[in-house]
Amino acid sequence: MASSTAQKPFPQPAEGSTLSFWRTKLDPLDDHQTTSFPTETDVLIIGGGYVGASAAYHILAENKQETPPRVTLVEARGLCSGATGRNGGHLRPDIYSATALFNERHGLEAAAEVVRFEVSHLKVIEDLVRKENIDCELTFTRSYDMYLDEDQLNKAKTFYDFLVNEGFDSMGDVTYMTQSDTQKEAHVRDAKGGFSFPTAHLWPYKLVTQLVRIAISHGLNLQTHTLVSEVAETPTADGLWPVTTDRGVIHARKIIFATNAYTSALAPQYAKAIVPCKGVCTQIFAAPGAPHQNLPGTYAIRLGTGAYIYQITRKDGSLIVGGASHTFKNDLEEWHNNPDDSKLIDVAVNFLKGYMQRTFLGWEDSGAEAKHIWSGVMGYSADSLPHVGSVPGKPGQFIAAGFNGHGMPVAFLSGKAVADMAQYSISFEDTGLPRLFETSEARLEPIYDDTK
Ligand SMILES: Cc1cc2nc3c(=O)[nH]c(=O)nc-3n(C[C@H](O)[C@H](O)[C@H](O)COP(=O)(O)OP(=O)(O)OC[C@H]3O[C@@H](n4cnc5c(N)ncnc54)[C@H](O)[C@@H]3O)c2cc1C
Repeated sequence: MASSTAQKPFPQPAEGSTLSFWRTKLDPLDDHQTTSFPTETDVLIIGGGYVGASAAYHILAENKQETPPRVTLVEARGLCSGATGRNGGHLRPDIYSATALFNERHGLEAAAEVVRFEVSHLKVIEDLVRKENIDCELTFTRSYDMYLDEDQLNKAKTFYDFLVNEGFDSMGDVTYMTQSDTQKEAHVRDAKGGFSFPTAHLWPYKLVTQLVRIAISHGLNLQTHTLVSEVAETPTADGLWPVTTDRGVIHARKIIFATNAYTSALAPQYAKAIVPCKGVCTQIFAAPGAPHQNLPGTYAIRLGTGAYIYQITRKDGSLIVGGASHTFKNDLEEWHNNPDDSKLIDVAVNFLKGYMQRTFLGWEDSGAEAKHIWSGVMGYSADSLPHVGSVPGKPGQFIAAGFNGHGMPVAFLSGKAVADMAQYSISFEDTGLPRLFETSEARLEPIYDDTK
């Protein structure tokens, strides 16, 4: 992996990653290899995170064909050890925030498709968890989007009013909160106001490992600790793609890149479109017996333009808190085009010390401090939209990657979409995905660079 592969293409998953809270109790599948390394497969899924698990689940457990295809999932490290195993656990549809950007660039109709798609994940994951009896602590609550900066709040309120006036269908349960509401209801000391809306949170590692377990029971061949180093430029005469790994070569009829931040090591044409960017996350507890206010939901605390903290409250009373990228934004080497999740970002970690005491009323004497601190690598996309669909010019290759710091309400159905495209040869249009998500030749040479 990264430290031992000087000859191999950048960026690859690093060795010795920091330990996230979610991965403190490993599933037996974490280092599972179903068989010795296979030499041929119908579908090869590269990447064992949320997308890879969703694709494997949809191809095998939801299979509508008489004979299911042979599906192999390869993962460089332990199962779900990438962004999904080290994120904030927040399943939070973005209703009016990114919409402003997509509205400006692509118009309201296209932006609305993205919002509807994100909101639909709440019900889809609820139904999935119920149907498959998945224990991942899925919790429904409200998200408090709190603005500490008056100008930023005013801009958000203007756009909120615009969406309400336009009759934007997802605004039904978005509530505007005044400064006194934010203090009384959300207990945020310095917020000037904000919004609240329905959201969920969960234990992402548990969701992924259980989805993969179901897929294995339907025939999935899981090969963890298998690093893919190369996908051949062209297929063989039989239409199979030779894929080189550190455990041998496998020939695949179809390939699904579920490689997110690391995509460009294997598909270098995505180097400008999807960039590995690092972030940090923590699990914080109040000191035993110390006074602290119960918090009613999850949070996004906006300290000012580009300065943002996200947070969920778990049922064990701990908080998963991350973000603070404004503290290291100017030090590009620290985070941009950096796939190394074996190191923390000290300046962000230091900023998060005392964060609960500074931010919330009733937490001043809580003695709150982090028990676990980790880093993770996101696939930032240059135009802030994921790349989903057929890889341009590569028949039989599909991609669902580039989910930024925001994959939980986006990537599950994106994984289903590429599974359906690979299995049933349906077109992107028939997947039901927002039109803006479709990967294309044009998007490989992006006109925006939202990664910085
Ligand atoms: C610190 C942090 C906090 C976040 N918080 C949130 C949040 O609260 N809410 C939210 O919605 N989103 C959040 N995100 C983003 C979210 O986690 C991701 O968008 C989502 O998990 C992406 O899933 P994925 O399957 O595409 O990628 P990943 O989970 O990264 O999976 C990709 C997998 O591919 C494997 N891989 C890559 N290259 C190779 C190779 N060459 N050979 C073999 N295997 C390979 C990797 O090892 C990795 O396991 C956060 C991300 C981070 C890092």
